Amino acid sequence: QLTTGLESAWNKLRGVDVLTKENIAEPMRDIRRALLEADVSLPVVRRFIESVSEKAVGTDVIRGVSPDQQLVKVVNDELVQLMGGEVSDLVFAKSGPTVILLAGLQGVGKTTVCAKLALYLKKMGKSCMLVAADVYRPAAIDQLTILGKKVGVPVYSEGTDAKPSQIAKNGLKEAKSQKKDVNCWKTAGHTLVDKAMMSELKEVKKAVNPTEVLLVVDAMTGQEAAGLVSSFNDEIGITGAILTKLDGDSRGGAALSVKEVSGKPIKFVGQGERMEDLEPFYPDRMAQRILGMGDVLSFVEKAQEVMRQEDAEELQKKILSAKFNFNDFLKQTEMIAKMGSFGRLIGMIPGMNKVTPAQIREAEKNLKFMESMINVMTPEERERPELLAESRERRRRVAKDSGKTEQQVSQLVAQLFQMRARMQKMMGAMQGKESPDMDE
Ligand code: GDP
Ligand code: MG
Repeated sequence: QLTTGLESAWNKLRGVDVLTKENIAEPMRDIRRALLEADVSLPVVRRFIESVSEKAVGTDVIRGVSPDQQLVKVVNDELVQLMGGEVSDLVFAKSGPTVILLAGLQGVGKTTVCAKLALYLKKMGKSCMLVAADVYRPAAIDQLTILGKKVGVPVYSEGTDAKPSQIAKNGLKEAKSQKKDVNCWKTAGHTLVDKAMMSELKEVKKAVNPTEVLLVVDAMTGQEAAGLVSSFNDEIGITGAILTKLDGDSRGGAALSVKEVSGKPIKFVGQGERMEDLEPFYPDRMAQRILGMGDVLSFVEKAQEVMRQEDAEELQKKILSAKFNFNDFLKQTEMIAKMGSFGRLIGMIPGMNKVTPAQIREAEKNLKFMESMINVMTPEERERPELLAESRERRRRVAKDSGKTEQQVSQLVAQLFQMRARMQKMMGAMQGKESPDMDE
């Protein structure tokens, strides 16, 4: 499974400080292997790995996010890009019926998709007509007719004597006279990509000038999906693909290759045999499914959002220069408050301890308590906590104004200095020998 292969990649980064060319080399090999095992084609994997490595090493450190989490994020974003980034909606004709031509090999799920799509469009408020342009197997026409009935959409067919391109013309005429919004075609599929099928498809395409030519691809196709998609695209020109049987034991590789080899997006995915089991293709959801790391991703995004790099850098400078004061303290507590469910998110990360709601409430209560004392300090006192450390008068005043005891104020001041010391130690360790400037 792709997920387990990737898991070992993340594990190799536990404990490193920043992503470097050297320390990502091995995890990248794991990712490469995992993708190949998931049936992603080699050239696609190669380009992917190159691009991820480049981006991973160049990313800025986000406070609170570990390098392995950061790599998960880079890999995720790159997967999303690889699959087209955004959702690709169906294109509708500006006037007259929208013609959708469905092509693909035999057994991939064309008939099923045709009926599913009709139901989907019906729910969107479009009126739809299906056309059976598969004249080789009477059973194929029956199958579409039955499924059409099931979803309540008419099916146009002419039996097995007619030529597909002729049925195509007649079907379109019929759809126009019935003022249908969408005319969806199901063409014959062969077991292999062959000349006869391609030339027939070309003829049908010429006859009806489709708005969309969608290639139906079975998700189980694996490695061959890349070749299949590019040959259909080269021969007839597709506008997109529909990936079926994603509910099955598919390794997901096909989803990653389609866009990369053809430049055309996956527009829908089929996830079951029921008529309702068709939905638009969301690259971000697919990436999360492949990575199985949704929790880590939302954590990283949240951390990114809250601790914007400027804030983090400024704070770092403060810490290094031993100037961390009550204003910074407040800023930090604000950040924590803004993060809201931060504690719960930490709990979701594998390997981290769960933080209980009671602990979160306790922490929030503590912060409020400290804030009430900081609020009555003078600007100079906030800026230079030393003033409070040196003067009992000042501590008494803060205690009186905030309704706390003198001892509680002393504790707060001591805590700030402890924090300063702890942070400096941590930063010192991260920066090697570089000693902070102690000018105060
Ligand atoms: P066609 O030969 O391309 O028209 O393929 P069909 O539409 O006849 O589908 C072949 C088989 O695949 C049928 O048994 C369908 O029920 C099944 N099938 C199609 N789409 C899906 C899907 O998304 N999930 C699952 N599990 N089965 C599917
Ligand atoms: Mg069929």
